[in-house]
Amino acid sequence: MRSLRVLITSGPTREPLDPVRFISNRSSGKMGHALVEAARTAGHRVTLVSGPVALPPPRSVALQEVETAEEMRRAVMKAASRADVIIMAAAVADYRPLVKARSKIKKRAAEMLLRLQKTPDILAELGRRKRPGQILVGFAAETENLRRHAARKLKAKNLDYLVANRVGRKDSGFDSDHNRAFLLARDGGTRSFPLMSKTLLAKKLIALICPK
Ligand code: C5P
Repeated sequence: MRSLRVLITSGPTREPLDPVRFISNRSSGKMGHALVEAARTAGHRVTLVSGPVALPPPRSVALQEVETAEEMRRAVMKAASRADVIIMAAAVADYRPLVKARSKIKKRAAEMLLRLQKTPDILAELGRRKRPGQILVGFAAETENLRRHAARKLKAKNLDYLVANRVGRKDSGFDSDHNRAFLLARDGGTRSFPLMSKTLLAKKLIALICPK
C-alpha cells in the first residue's frame, strides 16, 4: 500500500469578540482525531491542523494547533501543496465578529447588536487551488435535506468526496463517540454508513478515500 501525505483538520475554530469571549461551533474534534488515528495506522504520513479540543494530541503526527478560522486557513494553505489527500473535518466558524474589542466588553445595555463577517471558506479555496491528482474531502453537518445539500456542496467546492452527517440527533454527531454518515463521491457514487463508532467509521472512510 502507498504511504500518502494526508492533511486533516479537526475541532472547532474560535472567533474572539474580546479577550475573554468568543463565538464557536459545537465540535469535540472526535471525528477528525479518529481520522488522524485511522490514517496513521494505515501507514500514511499525517499532518493535523486542530482547533481547540479537549482530546489528547495524537501520537506520531505533525500537529499544528490553531484558534481562529484565519489561523487555520494559513496553516492549511502552507501544508496543502505537499498533501496528497486533504480532509477538512474541522467545524470552521462561518462568521466572526467584525471587530475584536481590545478590552472586555462591559455589560451595560439590555440589548446589544453584534456585527459579524464571513470567515474565509478554506475548503472552497482548496478546491480552487487543487492540483491534479490531489484528493479533497469535505464534511457537511446538516439538520435537513442532507443529500441535496451534500451534492450541491461537493460541486460548488470542487470536492472529490463529501462526508455528510445529520446533526441534531442524540445518538450521533456532536460530542458523541458514534456517528452515522454517507459518503458522496465526485462520480455520483454513494455509500451509507449506519450508526457506528467514530473509530470504525474513520477506518472505513480512510480505506475508501486514500487510493491504494
Ligand atoms: O458550507 P459548510 O460550512 O457547511 O461546509 C462544511 C465544510 O467546509 C467542512 O468540510 C468545513 O471544514 C469546511 N469549511 C471551511 N471553511 C469555512 C467553513 C467551512 O473550510 N469557513
